[in-house]
Amino acid sequence: MKKLILATLAVVALTTQFASASQKKKVMIIGMDGVRSDALQAASTPNIDELIATGFYTYDSWHLGYTVSGPSWSAMFTGVWHQKNGVTDNSYAGSNFGQYPYYPHRAKEVKPNLYAVQIVDWAPMSTQVTNEGFDQKIVRTENDVTAVANAAITQLQNANLDAITVYFAKVDNMGHGSGFSPSNPIYMAAIHEVDSAIGRVMAALHARPNYANEDWLVLICTDHGGVGTSHGGNSDNERHIWWIGSGNNVSRKQLVALQDPGSYLMPANPVNPVLLAKTPVQSDIAVTAIHHLLSDDLDSAGFAQKRQQWDLDGKSWLDSLRTTSDPVDTSHPPTAIGKTNLPSMDIKVYPNPSSGWTSLWFDGGKGNKEVSCQVYDVTGKLVLQAGPSAMVSQYRMNVDLSPLPAGQYFVRIYADDKIATKPVILHHQ
Ligand SMILES: [Zn+2]
Repeated sequence: MKKLILATLAVVALTTQFASASQKKKVMIIGMDGVRSDALQAASTPNIDELIATGFYTYDSWHLGYTVSGPSWSAMFTGVWHQKNGVTDNSYAGSNFGQYPYYPHRAKEVKPNLYAVQIVDWAPMSTQVTNEGFDQKIVRTENDVTAVANAAITQLQNANLDAITVYFAKVDNMGHGSGFSPSNPIYMAAIHEVDSAIGRVMAALHARPNYANEDWLVLICTDHGGVGTSHGGNSDNERHIWWIGSGNNVSRKQLVALQDPGSYLMPANPVNPVLLAKTPVQSDIAVTAIHHLLSDDLDSAGFAQKRQQWDLDGKSWLDSLRTTSDPVDTSHPPTAIGKTNLPSMDIKVYPNPSSGWTSLWFDGGKGNKEVSCQVYDVTGKLVLQAGPSAMVSQYRMNVDLSPLPAGQYFVRIYADDKIATKPVILHHQ
């Protein structure tokens, strides 16, 4: 989970004001195969957390089709669902990339000189896909996270690079091996490993000699979750996914509590177009990427025309990515911190409002061997952590909120495998 990054937020607020049309528009799509939404939230991912800190994101995206790699990545990279791109399994049999090509191909129809690269460690994504518009397709040994990251770092040294897809298969393979679950340490370790690789790739991006004159949109996504050691079905654990858009010119915002818009494969839960319009979904990835790459060439009307001409299913989130955050609902915790399977307990927070120190009073049962506390802001961002530590007396934990700006927060306490979340107001005196 993330550490306090107030300094980062201050920098974001400044850079957001300097979104410049003169910066060259570039896109990086980072794919992590098979990462459940609850696992991402539970994992220690400092590098992804940095992207979220400058990001527009949701932990409540939903899969609308086959929860299998081939069809899912095809939807993400073409901007259309399986009914159009034709991919319904990992053989890619029946694909229709001629009519519905990948995002670099579409962007090059307007800007032929774009330079695009793909790096994957799952060969079918390279060998079974045609007409995709990549100038280079690099395949590394499956599960070799380091090799994928190293190839990306090399490509990022090319000043002419405009679009890059970086794909990591390992988390999915660990899920198949021993379980798609936040409680499986092998699965979680793979998420941590990919997060570290993403940190190295992002450092290479920031080190580009002309970075100050570039406007990179980084989109990070997964293709499906999993249940037990498999996926492909319609359970929530397979369909509940996440979506991050990040960049120096992206406003920070979390879309919370998005309702399931349904699936094309679930007659009992058909796609609801009203919910779909509000939810970032896989086919939106390509459309948002194309929109960003072409945003200096096409105005909104021009892009809308292209989207229609290309018969794209996905919608562009570019305008939302660049719009100042909506007011946040502070009446209840955001879903990012609201989801847990642990039994709840009652706590009292006193004093509340607090001017710095506050105490969490609770009855955790037999002895509270391990007690810890996390403090989230109203967007669900973790801003403080305490414990497990010696500050704990038997039924009380003291927490110092004074490093935080005044405002509303949510405190969450874990004790004896029970959990409680309460709002708390901080006033500085
Ligand atoms: Zn997959």
